[in-house]
Amino acid sequence: MTLSFLDSLQPDLDSACEAINSRHAKLVGAQLPDGLRSHFRELARYIEARTGATVAMMVDMCCGACMAEHNPEFELILHIAHAELRSTGGAPMKHSRVLFIRHQPGLEVEESVKEAIPMLTAPAGVLTTSTHADRLPGVLRLLKEAGLEPQTATGKRTGGRGIILGCDFSAARKLAKKVNSFLFIGSGAFHPVGAGIATGKPVIGADPYTGQALVYTDIKDRMLRKRFAAMELAKNARIFGILLGLYPGQLRRRKALELKRLLEHEGREAYILAARRFDPENLSHIGMDALVSTACSRIAIDDDARYPIPLLTPPELDIVLGKRDWNDYVLDELG
Ligand code: SF4
Repeated sequence: MTLSFLDSLQPDLDSACEAINSRHAKLVGAQLPDGLRSHFRELARYIEARTGATVAMMVDMCCGACMAEHNPEFELILHIAHAELRSTGGAPMKHSRVLFIRHQPGLEVEESVKEAIPMLTAPAGVLTTSTHADRLPGVLRLLKEAGLEPQTATGKRTGGRGIILGCDFSAARKLAKKVNSFLFIGSGAFHPVGAGIATGKPVIGADPYTGQALVYTDIKDRMLRKRFAAMELAKNARIFGILLGLYPGQLRRRKALELKRLLEHEGREAYILAARRFDPENLSHIGMDALVSTACSRIAIDDDARYPIPLLTPPELDIVLGKRDWNDYVLDELG
């Protein structure tokens, strides 16, 4: 049974209301991912009816817990639907005034998992995102009954069992030598394709939204062909821009400086470009031939078609400069 939006935020939502009351907060910020923004009004009404606070929607796009940050105008910030991150670039994140509220809609996964079972080989690793993490016990039971010897590991950045992020596949990598296949519970191709690249093992998806099982081989091959084309183009680039993301969970100052030194050592010009969020507008008219992103790993993979010049990840830059072999292609991971 799928839960209503407000029920899908419990028990964290009521705990947040208690925290707002105990801190006598007057103005509270709410960060929601795109897909949940249409529910902001019911969220605000619910909280305002139970507390003395007014809730403001923070309308800057919010794609992950890496963007959770405190703003002095708000006594508290509610960060909806992303699991709190443990670290980024080794630095601890300080979230004393950010409350993380899980969004777990309780979608039915049995149908898609049963469809995926014949495609899996034992032992099978199990991966998901924080949205479907509460489904894991039921999924593990189904796989065990099917003789698939299910296994899970905890992710580095979230510390959650089986949880992978677009910038952290450690929950998959830890199992790579122990399992023969992976089941991914969730939607979208980035996570399962990334897990496949990170482990070299087949990943079968069980999508709770469509009720179907999926293989991602074609999508993965298409993505790798696009990345190869971007790297080929960047080989001729003379002037590089290095993107330094200023969101607390994306900030990799040391990495950006290291890449600048590396590029200069290789006879290229390199400049650091800093912003909280990058888009084709704030990166226009910059006079660069190619970009390398040390910010969210997904910028290069998901958004490259929006830019007129090649946009690489740091491991891809290594390939361009001959420091890494194409056969050792990896996605960029933060943390
Ligand atoms: S860095 Fe990117 S992939 Fe990682 S949590 Fe942030 S938005 Fe998600």
